[in-house]
Amino acid sequence: MKHSNHSSWALDTLLVHGEKVTTTANNAVVPTTQPIYASTTYLHTGAEALDQAFTGRLSSGEQAYVYARQGNPNAQTLENTLAQAEKGAGAVVFASGMAAIHAALLTAGLAPGAKILAAQDLYGPTIGLLRTIFKPIGVEVLLRDLCCPHAGQIIREEQPDVVFVETISNPLTRVTDLLAISSAAHDVGAVSIVDSTFTTPYLVQPIAHGFDLVVHSATKYFGGHGDSTAGVVISASNAHVEQLRGYATMLGAMLSPFESFLITRGLKTLALRMERHCTNAMQVAQFLQTHPAVERVHYPGLPDHPQHELATQLLRPKRFGGLLTFELKDQSREAAYRFMNNLQLCLPATTLGDVYSEVSYPPMSSHRNLTAAERQNMGITDGCIRLSVGIEDVADIIDDLDQAFLPK
Ligand code: PLP
Repeated sequence: MKHSNHSSWALDTLLVHGEKVTTTANNAVVPTTQPIYASTTYLHTGAEALDQAFTGRLSSGEQAYVYARQGNPNAQTLENTLAQAEKGAGAVVFASGMAAIHAALLTAGLAPGAKILAAQDLYGPTIGLLRTIFKPIGVEVLLRDLCCPHAGQIIREEQPDVVFVETISNPLTRVTDLLAISSAAHDVGAVSIVDSTFTTPYLVQPIAHGFDLVVHSATKYFGGHGDSTAGVVISASNAHVEQLRGYATMLGAMLSPFESFLITRGLKTLALRMERHCTNAMQVAQFLQTHPAVERVHYPGLPDHPQHELATQLLRPKRFGGLLTFELKDQSREAAYRFMNNLQLCLPATTLGDVYSEVSYPPMSSHRNLTAAERQNMGITDGCIRLSVGIEDVADIIDDLDQAFLPK
């Protein structure tokens, strides 16, 4: 029988075997994969046992389930695997990445009178959440460049209660110095949160770099197949896990058994997929860099990326992720649309981290609510195209991009 808490296992092994499979009383049916517990409620041997189950533990000490919104075996399995993968005290899964971010912010103490210092180039809806939900209730929201070399100093000057960053920024792939941010946050007594969706624990484990809470949109690389929406918060401390569980239950943001099953299945191939995403992305970045139709490529793996050195120190050796952005020489929206319409293999899909290569146009998607001047200020031109490099044969991806540059 497999053990679900094997601290000596490498990440690849852990992701394949993290799933906990329970035996039936007589050992007659022992599936290798945990079945989907499609039940909203759980029965117990009597009223006393039910009373005990409400505490979250059976008298034997095992996890108890009463009602699926408070927790279910499939979600629990996923949480165990992710807590171990990120080397955290515990994890709570949510119905989406945004629900996870919301709960992480509440858990970090974002209440009226509190101050959050967040990276200015966070995922757009995260900024939307801060501005439309937290600001109106009296939270001070400060957005600053936290990928710059003085990020630690900015935190010490601003003295926030919460700091929120992403490991790699969207779409320009700027890299965050996690240790500098978490040290400064701890110095001023702030809770540090990082959205590590783009990197996954395969590339970096932010709790080891001093972060309090790590958030992922599990919809992306964890699921990996574009068929499930989910989020997770992994916490360095048990106290935060309890709070997160409380918010998941109260806000009704708990992940369903079926989605938990799909993400758990996705995780089994995460290491393999990430390996391929990274090697493909490096080759695609090198191809784009020499293409006459391309002005610039933003990819931390390229030696001329301004933070290549930092990325090399922070991430798994010689691996820089599956996401890159490039700028067309013709910096017009028409040229960008023409390129996207010409694609035969890569999907013009506003997401990332799937097995398929996916292209998105930030001025139309993630940054559509900004003016052209605001985008320009951030370095996002009208010729800017984001590519989530998939796991197809890299020659096919390159051929597709190459033909899409040609006028049709
Ligand atoms: N964080 C990042 C970096 C994202 O890219 C996304 C979605 O694209 C989210 C959070 C939100 O995740 P979800 O769509 O699962 O709510």
